[in-house]
Amino acid sequence: MGQKITINEKGHLTVPDNPIIPFIIGDGIGPDIWNAAVRVFDEGVRKAYAAKRQIEWKEILAGQKAYDQTGSWLPEETIEAMREYVVSIKGPLTTPVGGGIRSLNVAIRQLLDLFVCQRPLSWIEGVPSPVKHPENVDMVIFRENTEDIYAGIEFEADSKEAQVLKEYLTNQFGVDYPFKEETALGIKPVSKEGSVRLIRAAIEYAIKEKLPSVSLVHKGNIMKFTEGAFKNWGYELAENEYAEDVFTWTQWERLKATDGEQAANNALQKAQQQGKVIIKDVIADNFLQQILLNPRDYAVIATLNLNGDYISDALAAIVGGIGIAPGANINYLKGHAVFEATHGTAPRFANTDSMNPSSVILSGVMMFDYMGWHEVSSIIKKGLAKTIRSKQVTIDFYNQMEGATLLKTSQFADAIIRYM
Ligand code: NAD
Repeated sequence: MGQKITINEKGHLTVPDNPIIPFIIGDGIGPDIWNAAVRVFDEGVRKAYAAKRQIEWKEILAGQKAYDQTGSWLPEETIEAMREYVVSIKGPLTTPVGGGIRSLNVAIRQLLDLFVCQRPLSWIEGVPSPVKHPENVDMVIFRENTEDIYAGIEFEADSKEAQVLKEYLTNQFGVDYPFKEETALGIKPVSKEGSVRLIRAAIEYAIKEKLPSVSLVHKGNIMKFTEGAFKNWGYELAENEYAEDVFTWTQWERLKATDGEQAANNALQKAQQQGKVIIKDVIADNFLQQILLNPRDYAVIATLNLNGDYISDALAAIVGGIGIAPGANINYLKGHAVFEATHGTAPRFANTDSMNPSSVILSGVMMFDYMGWHEVSSIIKKGLAKTIRSKQVTIDFYNQMEGATLLKTSQFADAIIRYM
């Protein structure tokens, strides 16, 4: 009965009323949280559209379940289905030890060229937080997903490759660095194309959602040609392609040099009043203190892969931890998207029906928004917010809340559905 979601050459989606959406159930706590989440999704769709719309879920295999059934951790058909059906969703996957696969998640991102790792981070009232004002965090991270030191191009300390590379760097490039005997080497590829497509997605998101700023987070003061270039390409893109919609800190600097600081500030203020997106940059270490000191200064974050990894978890901790932070991996040029729980498989808790399904549920909310089914997102968010406000929570929140009622994963889903 179901139909495929299709994409045109610009990456725009056409979503039928009964889309087929592939899902990976995930390892460890995956089945528990997925079985809870899928009931919430189906009920959300029913509440929003009655019988008019319905999702046809299609299971695809990855991780331990795939390995047990097919002998492959990530079967070719799984990647093919993710490509063919455009939008999919997954639970956490075990990282196989040995066997040449670094991480199934990284492999999925690279094989489908899902260059944006998008993570919205905002606080839901009642969620326990280690800071006094978690409500001040309301950000969306656009983390580059395919490049950087994460590309996995590295050579062991005692390998021949590392030795040859060291000699090459010293003799051919005149690198003046006292390499020690056993030195491992890693390569950090950062391309203009890769940076620009990520930053473009962030700027377009900020314009579309009417958000006040995009911050380029980088470590360009030290890594000038990689992280510094990321920042420079970002400013260049903003000024060349989005002149009507943005005002950049580089424009501010130029105005200050020619017309003085007052004139530069006036121009900035005028741009803000006109609703233009302010493009600014911040060095990564400073950013990690700014998210604690002045989080309201930041809305959309565009950053490289490794910075994005650290920043995502730091911000997730502020708004309630990895049990509730959602994520998506998206190719904004071609339209392919994989929505996912951001935590791991928590194997110790497998089949205990005790973990928090909010991360995968909110990833589903992102998925419905991406499909244009905003009514479902609103309904699910309302149900989740009410459940947490009434202090009916899973063990992770229960341990940090006074006067809370402890629910199992499945009961937590029941509560959300009741409140939707
Ligand atoms: P983890 O996220 O699985 O668990 C760390 C701890 O976080 C758990 O012990 C638990 O206390 C808590 N936690 C995690 N999810 C929770 C939830 N939904 N509700 C409540 N508490 C939760 O990290 P790990 O132990 O480092 O990794 C275990 C496995 O998961 C490894 O194989 C790792 O490679 C893999 N992993 C997969 C993904 C992914 O698929 N996206 C991400 C991270 C780790």
